[in-house]
Amino acid sequence: MGVCSSATMSLLRDNFTGALRPWARPEVLTCTPWGAPIIWDGTFDPDVAKQEATQQNLTIGLTVFAVGRYLEKYLERFLETAEQHFMAGQSVVYYVFTERPGAVPRVALGPGRRLRAELVVRERRWQDVSMARMRTLHAALGGRLGREAHFVFCMDVDQHFSSTFGPEALAESVAQLHSWHYHWPRWLLPFERDAHSAAAMARGEGDFYYHAAVFGGSVAALRDLTAHCARGLAWDRARGLEARWHDESHLNKFFWLHKPAKVLSPEFCWSPDLGRRAEIRRPRLLWAPKEYRLLRD
Ligand code: UDP
Ligand code: MN
Repeated sequence: MGVCSSATMSLLRDNFTGALRPWARPEVLTCTPWGAPIIWDGTFDPDVAKQEATQQNLTIGLTVFAVGRYLEKYLERFLETAEQHFMAGQSVVYYVFTERPGAVPRVALGPGRRLRAELVVRERRWQDVSMARMRTLHAALGGRLGREAHFVFCMDVDQHFSSTFGPEALAESVAQLHSWHYHWPRWLLPFERDAHSAAAMARGEGDFYYHAAVFGGSVAALRDLTAHCARGLAWDRARGLEARWHDESHLNKFFWLHKPAKVLSPEFCWSPDLGRRAEIRRPRLLWAPKEYRLLRD
């Protein structure tokens, strides 16, 4: 069981494991080679995790970008389902980054929950909207968001919550296993392979392929992560390069160099296109269908 056993984990105050039970899911990997828990349904006690978070009186940030047509298409459902499922009972501050703060839907918020609409300039290419997030998040984490939240999750808007996404997901740094790739052999994973890119990973490098639609951690850890990725993106741009999966490639490089303290199973961000799988018991976020022609021209 190694360092993922509950005895060891309870010593890590900032790892809201809720009495971890890695043995409850013998059919899947529940611990990384460096000893971080991989959280699957049944391996944690959501009530204990909730109690731990409540005792510490945490404020949890949730950032999301809704630029261009993504605002009308996805934002309302994302926020409404977050109100049902994201950190229920905790104090939460949503940060919505958009070029049209006035168009943000007025979703009814529970007690202790706030929403801030932050103005961003609209980049022309969708890839640039996606990549610019790292720089914007870095600035926000150094400003009000960083002052009012203890932990922050950063998410894509083209998805909605379908089940509890609670404090069991919190840790110093949190990465999401990509639902398309979690069972692929390592050499096939779509890391950036161009050695000139700041996101470059050599053959044999890389632990898992992580999904940029969900990552999180403490404010300090996310300041480091976003600084690293923004720097890598700027470095590439100055050389006329663009990594294969944009900001996600740089995120994967960061988590290769700085191992996440907690990893979320694909249940936490599942693609319904993949159909039913025995190990996916309870998806917590579901991707929206990719309707790129409607959104990206
Ligand atoms: N995004 C946006 N407007 C755009 C492009 C992207 O708001 O024109 C934001 C939005 O939050 C989206 C995220 O950036 O979920 C990442 O882009 P997308 O989801 O299209 O990338 P994919 O998940 O397909 O890689
Ligand atoms: Mn997306």
